[in-house]
Amino acid sequence: MTNTQVTARGWFEPVNPVPTAPPEPTPLYDELMPAAEFAAMLTRQLPGVVVTVAEIDHENCSWCATDGQVTTVRIYGQPEANDPGWPLDSAETCRRCCRRAIKQARIEQDLNSDRDIRVEVSN
Ligand SMILES: [Zn+2]
Repeated sequence: MTNTQVTARGWFEPVNPVPTAPPEPTPLYDELMPAAEFAAMLTRQLPGVVVTVAEIDHENCSWCATDGQVTTVRIYGQPEANDPGWPLDSAETCRRCCRRAIKQARIEQDLNSDRDIRVEVSN
């Protein structure tokens, strides 16, 4: 009985409840951030990826094809020149899809490349 105590109601309740991890930012929260703040967050979360703020034309996002999701992130990959697949060379996505695109770019990055994966973010 080291982990419980009798409450005023007479029930046993945990003294030290299992701590829960802080909630991850939701996609909606990503969408509401100003570009500079979103760029700073991606920089913190994605070491080795250079994130800057830029102007990007708002087109419908072809990655999710969701109504209302427009392109606000541009990703420049560094794939091997002779990659036989369809590596990510450059892509424009909405903020919901950008992490998926960045992940793909990082996986496909040419190990001999001396350039970083670059990401541009707009409002
Ligand atoms: Zn999208």
